[in-house]
Amino acid sequence: MKKQLFINYLLVAVLTMAIVQFGFSQNKDLPNIVILATGGTIAGAGESSTGSSYTSGQVGIEAMIDAVPNIRKLANLKGEQISNVGSQDMSVKIWLDLANRINKLLTDDVDGIVITHGTDTQEETAYFLNLVVKSDKPVVLTGSMRPSTALSAEGPLNLYNAVAVAASQEAKEHGVMVVMNDEIHSAHAVKKMITTPVQTFMSPQHGMLGTVIFGDIVFFHKPHGIHTVNSEFSVDGVTELSRVDIVYACADMSPDLIDIMVKAGAKGIIIAGVGDANMTEATLEAAKKATKKGIPVVRASRVPVGAVLIHGEINDEEYGTVSSDELNPQKARILLMLALQKDKDMSREKLQELFINY
Ligand code: GLU
Repeated sequence: MKKQLFINYLLVAVLTMAIVQFGFSQNKDLPNIVILATGGTIAGAGESSTGSSYTSGQVGIEAMIDAVPNIRKLANLKGEQISNVGSQDMSVKIWLDLANRINKLLTDDVDGIVITHGTDTQEETAYFLNLVVKSDKPVVLTGSMRPSTALSAEGPLNLYNAVAVAASQEAKEHGVMVVMNDEIHSAHAVKKMITTPVQTFMSPQHGMLGTVIFGDIVFFHKPHGIHTVNSEFSVDGVTELSRVDIVYACADMSPDLIDIMVKAGAKGIIIAGVGDANMTEATLEAAKKATKKGIPVVRASRVPVGAVLIHGEINDEEYGTVSSDELNPQKARILLMLALQKDKDMSREKLQELFINY
């Protein structure tokens, strides 16, 4: 009896060692993919399959994987729950946790990462990771517009396609991607364009990177902008980022808002300007005051598509401002936070260069 017990202990110990050492033990011919779940509608649940009301982040990662037929034929899968929030509650803290976890996993025996995420701020998380992930292996975000309990919920097929992209050799060196509705988008170009339909993600300036139809992948081009292994940003050991605020411009905008943000402790300001990132003369003067105090001010646009001209109607040198180039206000905020993390006294010229290159 004692001998049997000893053999059992030995077997358990050997098995545990094998799992710890090799991590994935199912099928050595398949790639190893980790799915990091953060919440969102893809994990949402509602009372009725035809009602529009639901709560984000209700379903755990294992249940999500089990809901997708044949997904385990694409890869050896492991799930980890990083958070379970609607992405309106995504935070710098979760971004840092995600980035550090991904960097660790991709130096181990993991071949690709999928992140399930709400769609509201998915483009922000994708862009943040695009700048701080230190690997050329595929990192793919996905989500859904319909909760898991809805009629024609599209989450399971999006997850299947996201795993297919993350598991593909072809997807390497494309930076961080968003896969939804059969399309592959780059973190730099993708934008949430429509509030509720499933065709919400588009890359209006650059076009989608490719398509993925029931796991069959076609890439059309490489992403624009410096990313991942070539990025100069790192969040290794970083526990917080500087506060950067966004203010939305409109006709007759009050300049007080800029002063209020400075008073509240903003270390950088993004203005979602009108048209080519313009603003009232009074706001421009308030922005100049802020830049003179060493607080960088970036001009992005509230218009969804197009680059912001340097020295268009506004002379950036005179006001100390920087053009966001192609970045929308929410992505410009991320680049400015990372720039401040790298060098809080960065020159206006260097900052402008970053906005052109990333
Ligand atoms: N507010 C939700 C979220 O971003 C809804 C969007 C979604 O996931 O589709 O998590």
